Amino acid sequence: MTHPQSDEAVLHPETLAIRAGRETSQYREHSQSLQLTSSFTFDTAEEAAALFAGQVEGYTYSRFTNPTVSAFQQRLAALEGGERAIATSSGMAAIQAVMLTFLKTGDHVVSSRSLFGSTTNLLSGVLARFGVETTFVDPTDTAAWADAVRPTTRLFFLETPSNPLTEVADIAAIAQVAHAHDCLMVVDNCFCSPALQQPLTLGADLVVHSATKYLDGHGRVLGGAVVGADRLVEQVYLHVRTAGPTMAAFNAWVLLSGLETLYLRMERQCASAARLAAWLEAHPSVERVYYPGLPSHPQHVLAMRQQKAGGAVVSFVVKGGREAAWRVVDTVQVISRTANLGDVKSTITHPASTTHARITPEARQAAGIVEGLLRLAVGLEHPDDLQHDLAAGLG
Ligand SMILES: *Cc1c(COP(=O)(O)O)cnc(C)c1O
Repeated sequence: MTHPQSDEAVLHPETLAIRAGRETSQYREHSQSLQLTSSFTFDTAEEAAALFAGQVEGYTYSRFTNPTVSAFQQRLAALEGGERAIATSSGMAAIQAVMLTFLKTGDHVVSSRSLFGSTTNLLSGVLARFGVETTFVDPTDTAAWADAVRPTTRLFFLETPSNPLTEVADIAAIAQVAHAHDCLMVVDNCFCSPALQQPLTLGADLVVHSATKYLDGHGRVLGGAVVGADRLVEQVYLHVRTAGPTMAAFNAWVLLSGLETLYLRMERQCASAARLAAWLEAHPSVERVYYPGLPSHPQHVLAMRQQKAGGAVVSFVVKGGREAAWRVVDTVQVISRTANLGDVKSTITHPASTTHARITPEARQAAGIVEGLLRLAVGLEHPDDLQHDLAAGLG
């Protein structure tokens, strides 16, 4: 039910993004149907018993799974090259489900120190309360991951490229370290999406997603997912059906249409981002640009081997600190002032005073989140209009 069909292996990802996981009802509708129902009926008591015991496959209750959610899971699994996916209510729900499935009191996690803020809080706040310790390491220093391993280490957690400085970590090399110590390698593939990077094919055991970002692509709904081998995802599924961070059928229906255009969107958004990154790097008011597609990026060679393109996020430091950075943010008329990303609408944010405002100024400085730093998530508008919009505030 949640497995991609075997002949899907020969189709291109662009085709799978549209065709994989289609489920048609008895009405044979051509567009994706939306099954809004909390429960499903049974022909007999015996059938109900068999379904609940897992002896036959089918639908019982939408916390377990739902046809629309199942279609989304099958499609995403096909795109990530995984055997199976389980969808969740948000990206954080997916990350939490993985942690609660595979960790217990006394276990240790090695994680990138450059993480989405709520993921850091989940590890160093929530899980620490339950006796799970985390060591945070430089994601680009593969040796640091090996050095951090303890006898109790169970799981490695990585985001690449990182937010907002686009540091690129070597998934294959870090996965080797993880496996040498019998640890699970989990990669948050939110920034690249399967259109640019397939961590499972590089050796990761599980991919987690915030479907809220590029998978939807239009900033409409929250969603998340965990993708990987059937034997691992089955365990996450058992946790999700018990604990309940399930994806809503409506959100799955929205995300299925988002996936149809994922490859087109990513191709165009990356091309525009690459153009703007090159233009920003040559601009006299810009001190530094962070973009994996630029030869000046410290991990450019690795990024070009690991990803199909540089991505759609460009971070840059303007000369003149906070005042100059805020002037750019306050001057834009096309680009949205919001911290979200992954949308067809371009967004700009000043990390030091928003997403990273809660950490101390010293820690911010050490992490490279300087006052002049801006993060631009490039959307689908014409790149000339975006360039013109930024030029006005750069002076
Ligand atoms: C947004 C985001 C998340 C969290 O996803 P939600 O859907 O907001 O819960 C996790 N990781 C990364 C890299 C993100 O950008």
